[in-house]
Amino acid sequence: MATLGTLCVYCGSSGQVDPRHLEAASELGRRAAERDVGIVFGGGRVGLMGRVADGALAADGRVVGIIPEHLMELEAGHPGVTELEVVGSMHLRKARMCQLSDAFCILPGGLGTLDETFEIITWRQLRLHDKPIVIVNVDDFWRPLLDLIGHQTDQGYLSYNNETLFKVVSEVDEVFEAVEAAPEPRYPLDASLL
Ligand code: AMP
Repeated sequence: MATLGTLCVYCGSSGQVDPRHLEAASELGRRAAERDVGIVFGGGRVGLMGRVADGALAADGRVVGIIPEHLMELEAGHPGVTELEVVGSMHLRKARMCQLSDAFCILPGGLGTLDETFEIITWRQLRLHDKPIVIVNVDDFWRPLLDLIGHQTDQGYLSYNNETLFKVVSEVDEVFEAVEAAPEPRYPLDASLL
């Protein structure tokens, strides 16, 4: 059973999206705080990212944001988080988010979310870490992506074993059980390899 002290959340920076997605983001933040699970996220106050942080903070949760200096204005660094770490590059941001987190979850998002999602999944495929990864398929948002991965598997580009790389759930509530049901990571992350 994996220990969950900090959960990294990858999600969209856009706010012009289905209100149910924004609500799922707030709920995830709130539920994490209720379970005393700290949030690690990209540090912005916009879109779903901001809603995750606001949801957790409103329930007295801990929230750590990691933001590259050049995005401080674009994504509006969240002023209310417990800690905001400003780093020098996107690569440092992703490495630091990985280092600080016990598990990862993915809410709806755009290209940045896809980049982060595939990086954390492929890092696991390459055995750089074996922390749990959960895709939250809110309203079947990720169906086209899941179908693509199924197609890649059928065509021999992914091993069927790769189905163990991440778990898919449909509700925010299920994230915590999915992480806790995952085996405890077997080896420590060597951040110098990221
Ligand atoms: P998006 O899903 O495009 O709204 O972006 C969500 C988050 O991913 C934002 O914090 C972006 O700064 C971040 N992001 C965008 N592009 C990249 C990238 N190439 N690598 C890592 N993160 C990114």
